[in-house]
Amino acid sequence: KMFNELQDLKGNIRVYCRIRPFLPGQTAKRTTVEHIGEYGELIVANPTKPGKDGYKSFKFNKVFGPDATQVDVFSDIQPLIRSVLDGYNVCIFAYGQTGSGKTYTMTGPNRASEEDWGVNYRSLNDLFKISQSRRSFFIYEIGVQMVEIYNEQVRDLLSNDVAQKKLGIMSTTQPNGLAVPDASMHAVRSTSDVLELMDIGLKNRAIGATALNERSSRSHSVVTVHVRGKDLKTGSGLHGNLHLVDLAGSERVDRSEVTGDRLKEAQHINKSLSALGDVIFALAQKGSHVPYRNSKLTQVLQSSLGGQAKTLMFVQLNPDANSYSESMSTLKFAERVS
Ligand code: ADP
Ligand code: MG
Repeated sequence: KMFNELQDLKGNIRVYCRIRPFLPGQTAKRTTVEHIGEYGELIVANPTKPGKDGYKSFKFNKVFGPDATQVDVFSDIQPLIRSVLDGYNVCIFAYGQTGSGKTYTMTGPNRASEEDWGVNYRSLNDLFKISQSRRSFFIYEIGVQMVEIYNEQVRDLLSNDVAQKKLGIMSTTQPNGLAVPDASMHAVRSTSDVLELMDIGLKNRAIGATALNERSSRSHSVVTVHVRGKDLKTGSGLHGNLHLVDLAGSERVDRSEVTGDRLKEAQHINKSLSALGDVIFALAQKGSHVPYRNSKLTQVLQSSLGGQAKTLMFVQLNPDANSYSESMSTLKFAERVS
């Protein structure tokens, strides 16, 4: 189904739910997922309230169950990725608690196996393929930036400079404007260029994790793909960008249990995720005021949220009954913006 069909209905926002499988070795397989419908329906059961009284139902543009493959997921969003080559701005992000499969969806578990590739690799691979197929009509240049937003500070994940300064954000009202102009931009011509870059980015993301364990779950990572095209017949140019976002874990942190840095982190995450929710909510309501300025995250993503841009959210769920309350809060976030 073409994305355009949904434009009038949803203000260019689509919401997909993806439920990860139980992991090998996870023995007690008590699930909260009661039913997955073919047309985007999801019923979740409350483990403390057995029977129909504990059911809650939700509606998405689509639900991917535990058996959905990376190929299944990507084939559904392919038209969206392709529209970047026509000059659209697109934002795809994964939302959910830590362990719900955000990184699996966006990056994949193992880049050595093509079958496992997530949305990031597949998108770029696809952009190269299509730009090649159009080469008698168009010339395309594709550049990649990768930044991390941690505690409301933006850091270049593709820079060699370890002691780098915090990066500033520009308003992207210019058609070619870069939100983070000082983050290094890397021209890519092939999928192997991309693999190499992502390796650097993922490694740099991990380096920040020495003091704090698993920093990646507490920062947002944003891959920005800039596409510049030139129509060989008319000479006119176009520009599109694609933001691929692996968000920080949405789990609520018990204020009574954390202090200091950990509390500060939690507050920053909370603030930026609710700012993102507020922006998408305002867009879905077609509100005249869209509060982009309330977080670094929404400022970085501004060009691909709203206007002619197309936004896709993956709502990630861990099916485990023990995750019921986190899943409900994830689903409530999704419900508000869809
Ligand atoms: P998050 O990034 O949200 O913290 P991960 O992507 O790291 O979560 O996923 C948590 C674990 O679940 C990882 O071991 C990952 O490989 C596994 N996993 C997530 N989604 C899937 C899936 N669709 N199929 C198989 N394993 C998955
Ligand atoms: Mg992750």
